[in-house]
Amino acid sequence: MKNIEDVEKEVQEKLRKKLMNAVREKNPKFSNEYINTIFETTSYQDIIDEYEIDTMRVCSHCGKLMDEGYCIESGIDYYCSDECLHANMTEEEYLDLYNDGKGDSYYTEWY
Ligand SMILES: [Zn+2]
Repeated sequence: MKNIEDVEKEVQEKLRKKLMNAVREKNPKFSNEYINTIFETTSYQDIIDEYEIDTMRVCSHCGKLMDEGYCIESGIDYYCSDECLHANMTEEEYLDLYNDGKGDSYYTEWY
């Protein structure tokens, strides 16, 4: 049986590849080598900003890549999990912002 850390690692590996593919799609002339260099020297957030990748976010709490999770106040913060959300606000505070779906904070998937 796989333990939770291995599963986490696999998810992050998959998301890293997804981000690499997104960068490649936007920049078809980049060689694999060049893309590898970018990923070795640049933070995920900077990559997402620089190459205008709108399908992924970085968790404001733990720094992990995510393609689904919490968007807080239209993107002031992003959280990948309940743990990261609740490290920064209580469920009540979140529900206040969520406001029955009328607020600018919600759980979503980015495509
Ligand atoms: Zn997180």
